[in-house]
Amino acid sequence: MHILGFDIGGTKSIVGVADETGTVLAKKRIETRGHLGPAQALTRLKAAAHEVVCESGAKVDAIGIGCGGPLDRRSGIIHVVPNLPGWQGICLTHEFGNEFDVPAYLENDANAAAMGEHFFGAGKGVDDFVFLIVGTGIGGGIIANGKIYRGYGENAGEIGHHKIRPEGPPCPCGDRGCLESLASGTSIARIARDRLASKPKTVLWDWIASPGEVTAEMVARAARKGDEFASRVWFECMENLGIGVANVVNIFNPRLVIIGGGVTKAGDMLFEPVRKVVRERAMPELAKDVEIVPAANGELMGLMGAFAVALTETSTL
Ligand SMILES: [Zn+2]
Repeated sequence: MHILGFDIGGTKSIVGVADETGTVLAKKRIETRGHLGPAQALTRLKAAAHEVVCESGAKVDAIGIGCGGPLDRRSGIIHVVPNLPGWQGICLTHEFGNEFDVPAYLENDANAAAMGEHFFGAGKGVDDFVFLIVGTGIGGGIIANGKIYRGYGENAGEIGHHKIRPEGPPCPCGDRGCLESLASGTSIARIARDRLASKPKTVLWDWIASPGEVTAEMVARAARKGDEFASRVWFECMENLGIGVANVVNIFNPRLVIIGGGVTKAGDMLFEPVRKVVRERAMPELAKDVEIVPAANGELMGLMGAFAVALTETSTL
């Protein structure tokens, strides 16, 4: 069995072909240019797909698609996606399914990535885990009893929007004090930037001309060097992330919490403080069951997720 997978993002997308074991036979990364509207982007995505199918030499049996939500998984239609303006109402399963004349299946990107870790990554063989993506925002996917947990309206897993600090900073969701507003890459950079306004002594000034240039990666790098200002910002954010993970542990009693996304490039600078907070603050009986581990699929988490979506759907036919 061969699957064509699409990991569609607003700025970049990855298209690839894999067999049922998740071995990638060909893949290609393209600029989506989603802001220019769907017509141009779909043409580029389809052209890239034909290229990878040709390169793989495989006959494609099914298509899996991961894309930012909200979306309607069953009808394959995209709703309002902030970084894909004008895409509302586009039926992705129809677009790609017709192009290759095979069944196509759509899933939101966070759920897809969780399914990808379950099939091919750090969650292989584990039927109860929670996957967190800590990047620009914070997304999540819940695997319960070996299956993705969707909830009544199929929007479960918004772990980035559970509340950590009632009076915390505003969040893109419209509320305040959510995990995402306190520990995403964007938030780490924003917190550092705001505090740089008071001109503290920090090595960050060697790397930036103005506070607006600071990134989460710089904060992590400076904190690793022992910079006092950066360490305070970084470990405060990691404490909030740890509290978020401790809440997840208390609610789901998972075997694993798998964390992926750009901010995890900080490695032990992220995992050690988060594990410590979970040990201290989750209920002991639940904390002893859980391991907090990095995602295995890395940059390909969306693509591996798209393959897993197609495998899941075709196996239940
Ligand atoms: Zn929020």
